[in-house]
Amino acid sequence: MAFLAGDQRYYFVPCPHCGEKQRLEFSQIKWDQEAKVGNKWDEDRVKASAHYECCKCHGAITDGHKTSMLRGGEWRPTNPAAATGRRSYHLNSLYAPWRSCSFGELAAKFLRDKGARDTLQDFQNSTMAIPWEEEASGASEEAILACRNPDYRIGQCPVEPVIVTLCADVGQSASHWSAMAWALGGEGFVLDYGTVTAPEDILHLRLVFDAPSGRKVAPMQGLIDSGFNATAVYRVCALSDGVFFPAKGSKATSGTIGASILKDYPTMPLYTVNEFFSKVALYIDKIEKRKAPFLHFPADAGDDFLNSFAGQKIITNRKTGKPEFRLVAGDHYADTVRLHYACVQELRKVGAIEFLEK
Ligand SMILES: [Zn+2]
Repeated sequence: MAFLAGDQRYYFVPCPHCGEKQRLEFSQIKWDQEAKVGNKWDEDRVKASAHYECCKCHGAITDGHKTSMLRGGEWRPTNPAAATGRRSYHLNSLYAPWRSCSFGELAAKFLRDKGARDTLQDFQNSTMAIPWEEEASGASEEAILACRNPDYRIGQCPVEPVIVTLCADVGQSASHWSAMAWALGGEGFVLDYGTVTAPEDILHLRLVFDAPSGRKVAPMQGLIDSGFNATAVYRVCALSDGVFFPAKGSKATSGTIGASILKDYPTMPLYTVNEFFSKVALYIDKIEKRKAPFLHFPADAGDDFLNSFAGQKIITNRKTGKPEFRLVAGDHYADTVRLHYACVQELRKVGAIEFLEK
């Protein structure tokens, strides 16, 4: 473990009440202990009452305090035995700005997972290395059509989702969006898709789906491509209150997803999604080779949606000599699906969701 060998830096943030700098630990999340009916926790009451308790003054710290605390924090080494200059860093999901990492959501998730803890595995790193095989270079029409699932139609939600995500690709005259439900086994289901005129319209889509249990589910997180109009996308994400985060494609030759800090929005990470690897993962692994956990399209998905996955081909860049995907016009919906995969990968990394893959 590289972290243990280093100087083990933790991020210390100031209490908004007494100023004591502390590292955020799960044991300090408190919720209404009366919110238990028989053997079962009332999730809504747990979420509503959950807060973080300062380790010194025992004051209640809420999600609303998080942004300013993160701004006022600092990295501190905790392992004096480390070799000089060997730094290592650790952040847990309590620090994540995502709404699905609010104190209430994390408390509810902890209680939900408690029973299943032994069987749950941490897949944090499992998607980091995507092998690329040369013989396939895109998704065939046949393979794209085979993703249609006869058991559900546009607007229906065929599974009890771990989370529903909404991702968008902002363009000049229209912004394409799609919503996906994610099953516990990691399978992804495109539920609906469409376009809006102004980027801000994404905030007003008000999508709600009926899960098989009768539960109403709505998109809770998502990424928006900032490549075309970064200013508008940053503004929409900032207004979304932790629901949406900006993302842009990267030409990097390693890594799948990274994050950088925006000067004007210090607590809103800008995610960078590796274009080549995310296209290999979607077009070749998920669609052409139909690798599990599967990707599903609604039975009545239209040509405008299906065609956006067609025509992808790997070519060799003449200048760099490296493989890349040829530019394809009209792949906006497919780009939103790539963002969904990047989004759930990040949510798994920060501990907001877990998949139980076979
Ligand atoms: Zn305090």
